[in-house]
Amino acid sequence: MKTMKCNQLGGACDIQFHANTFEEIAEISKQHGMEMFQKKDQAHLNAMNEMQALMKDPGAMKAWFESKRKEFNALPED
Ligand SMILES: [Zn+2]
Repeated sequence: MKTMKCNQLGGACDIQFHANTFEEIAEISKQHGMEMFQKKDQAHLNAMNEMQALMKDPGAMKAWFESKRKEFNALPED
């Protein structure tokens, strides 16, 4: 398992996610983001606005995703 924090994955808090693959941690992070969105957590809403701005440019989004994947892959196993 590897660990990344919400704010390392485009979020806004220090909560830790644990997963074996980047796809898995991206999914957990997404679900956490949706939960925070429903709670109208302002810090996460701001972070999501930034992500949405990034998503308007598919190339930039892909580059962001790949840099996060590399970051994840470079992490030591817990
Ligand atoms: Zn968070």
